[in-house]
Amino acid sequence: MSCYKGKYADELIKNAAYIGTPGKGILAADESTGTIGKRLSSINVENVESNRRALRELLFCTPGCLQYLSGVILFEETLYQKTAAGKPFVEVMKEAGVLPGIKVDKGTVELPGTDGETTTQGLDGLAERCQKYYEAGARFAKWRAVLKIGANEPSQLAINDNANGLARYAIICQQNGLVPIVEPEILVDGAHDIQKCADVTERVLAACYKALNDHHVLLEGTLLKPNMVTPGSESPKVAPEVIAEYTVRALQRTMPPAVPAVVFLSGGQSEEEATVNLNAMNKLQTKKPWSLSFSFGRALQQSTLKAWCGKEENVQKAQAAFLTRCKANSDATLGKYAGASNLSEGASESLHVKDYKY
Ligand code: 13P
Repeated sequence: MSCYKGKYADELIKNAAYIGTPGKGILAADESTGTIGKRLSSINVENVESNRRALRELLFCTPGCLQYLSGVILFEETLYQKTAAGKPFVEVMKEAGVLPGIKVDKGTVELPGTDGETTTQGLDGLAERCQKYYEAGARFAKWRAVLKIGANEPSQLAINDNANGLARYAIICQQNGLVPIVEPEILVDGAHDIQKCADVTERVLAACYKALNDHHVLLEGTLLKPNMVTPGSESPKVAPEVIAEYTVRALQRTMPPAVPAVVFLSGGQSEEEATVNLNAMNKLQTKKPWSLSFSFGRALQQSTLKAWCGKEENVQKAQAAFLTRCKANSDATLGKYAGASNLSEGASESLHVKDYKY
């Protein structure tokens, strides 16, 4: 049997290609209630619905920012929220040509018999949830699978299980009109070198594309959200040009040209690091049959959060910080980011959290 050819096929292909439009990328604002609580507590703001809504309004309604975005990933609560003036966030996005996306996984649990490796939950009832989200305006989805690098990790069990989970999720999304973002995140935690990260990334991506094929997923209607290939968090850093070379080569070896775009996660890099690394990839002269863009969470929001601190009088300043990051990353998708002479507070700070849960 061949890949998905159902009623949504043309729409999936169109939306996936649109998200990959050069000059645009994705804001990942889909932090679960627990995770956003950690962000808010870092600026002494209480984790209540009104504050979560206010932060999301600050981001989505930053004047000028939506021109740099093709998608925003939301947590379920946010999909149904409105601006203070009563306009649904989904409408705000649609009017600006930005596709709403939705996190559909239910987080990770330990894989029994492994040394702390995980599998992602959320397949039960997924088709029904996708239908409901499509009706509410969502057009793409995210499912985060997590792998780690260790002496014996990732195990073959973790690689196979997570690739299979991503493929099951992807075909269920497609059958219900949502473009699946396939996210096999290899955590940066560890003392390994960049070569080790490249080897693991290639092994994991190869398994994912085998599983996507086995499950009849229409690749043209998907996006890949991988980690960049970097040394581990406890190893010395390398130049953006080196990261670019290793990352693009890992993709060349494993990722079919049928997939329209790669939208990288930032994975605990500082805002500026994530931007310059993406820029270096887009400057690299080599075979790149997909667009290379961003789907950053932490690396788009950190300086904004710091500038805001939950205070109404800081909203403008915070929005200025957010606009700066959106523009910088848009430039980076074109290989035209010139770098910043004076970074705002938070922009160069490492955002790495060990064993990060989204
Ligand atoms: P970071 O960019 O903060 O790593 O997160 C992106 C994301 O959506 C992870 O699932």
